[in-house]
Amino acid sequence: MVLTLRHRPLIAVATLAGTLVLVPLAAQQQEKVDLESVYRIKEEGFQRSQVMNIMSWLTDVYGPRLTNAPGFRKAGEWAVKEMTSWGLSNVKLEPWGPFGKGWTNDKFYAMATTPGGSFPLTGMSTAWTPGTNGLVSGQAVHAVIETAEDMAKFQGQLRGKFVLTSALREVPALWTSPATRYTDQQLAELRRESDATPRGQRGGRAGAPERQGGPGGGRGGAQGIAAQRTQFFKDEGVVALISAGRGDGGTIFLGGNSANRQPTVTDLGLPAIVIAIEHYGRIVRTLEKKMPVTIEMDVKNTFHDDPQSFNVVAELPGTDTALAPELVMLGAHFDSWHGGTGATDNAAGSAVMMEAMRILKESGVKLRRTVRIGLWGGEEQGLLGSRAYVTQHFADRATMTLKPDHAKFAGYFNVDNGTGDPWGLSSG
Ligand SMILES: [Zn+2]
Repeated sequence: MVLTLRHRPLIAVATLAGTLVLVPLAAQQQEKVDLESVYRIKEEGFQRSQVMNIMSWLTDVYGPRLTNAPGFRKAGEWAVKEMTSWGLSNVKLEPWGPFGKGWTNDKFYAMATTPGGSFPLTGMSTAWTPGTNGLVSGQAVHAVIETAEDMAKFQGQLRGKFVLTSALREVPALWTSPATRYTDQQLAELRRESDATPRGQRGGRAGAPERQGGPGGGRGGAQGIAAQRTQFFKDEGVVALISAGRGDGGTIFLGGNSANRQPTVTDLGLPAIVIAIEHYGRIVRTLEKKMPVTIEMDVKNTFHDDPQSFNVVAELPGTDTALAPELVMLGAHFDSWHGGTGATDNAAGSAVMMEAMRILKESGVKLRRTVRIGLWGGEEQGLLGSRAYVTQHFADRATMTLKPDHAKFAGYFNVDNGTGDPWGLSSG
């Protein structure tokens, strides 16, 4: 089923249309659509939408929401207060864990000085890496280390230095929009692919390994040159590691050194900073001219000892005695990375699903089944919150031992699609 939508408030309607139309159709082809309820839902969504207001609270006020950072918890507490004020039931932060420590960047100052003068660096710390412990300055060195020979070349030369660890890459000019809408034909093609590929055989992120990022990244126990390089820089007495992540035009992308969130880790390694490719290139090209570049930096990062994490849950009880125990779930991941406010990934999805719950409540439609929202933590570190929820409520994936709620589970709708209006639903 592809729904063509034009306005943001319709997102909630799309979700609901899926809930109201898809589920009964599967059960009983002849069931009539309750158009009166659909009109009430549309009226609430179009005329009194709160979705951008919810969005502003989740991003402007409490963003970013890196899992277990104080902002993440405050955003969760705000969502509980808000959904309670709407009259939803069983609104709570449901704990799971342990996740490990939260982390925040509390101060970031970085300047580079070339023979021509000084300029501020656009950049930020990789998550779960340490700060600089005050104001530090030193020479920049471009040291791309891929082999033991590279290591030998730089041995004894990096003490007190800022090391630029990645090779310089081309930054091509942009002549076309980096994002475009699918055409109707492309959407139809996507739908055909989705219908033709049986569930369980599609690609996807379920089971994907935990993502890492930044020069300080790498799992505990990582083997090979990456682990050796990390130790080499530390032994050399490097001040901080600097890399240029993907992105251009001053935009940077950040990940985290997830191993460092574990309470057992005592050696946090070196500060790991990602800077804009334009600034990175300027420094490298100056160094290639055998001219010095000095970097000055003051980065304060804090680890927060809060190992347990949470998902935000709330529900609207069903009104049909026979069907109320059945559960239709709406969800989105609540956490984000730390470089921005986590707007598109994924306050957008969380706000849409909260708004869907608000509309369902406020419009007063009679829902036969119970509708529950789940806003997940720890998604960016490997779908951790939603997996914990499934284990607690539905089934242990390791043993496939089913929990009682498994039999009552009627469907789940998820949004993690970023910006733009949704044009359809896909199953998986
Ligand atoms: Zn996401």
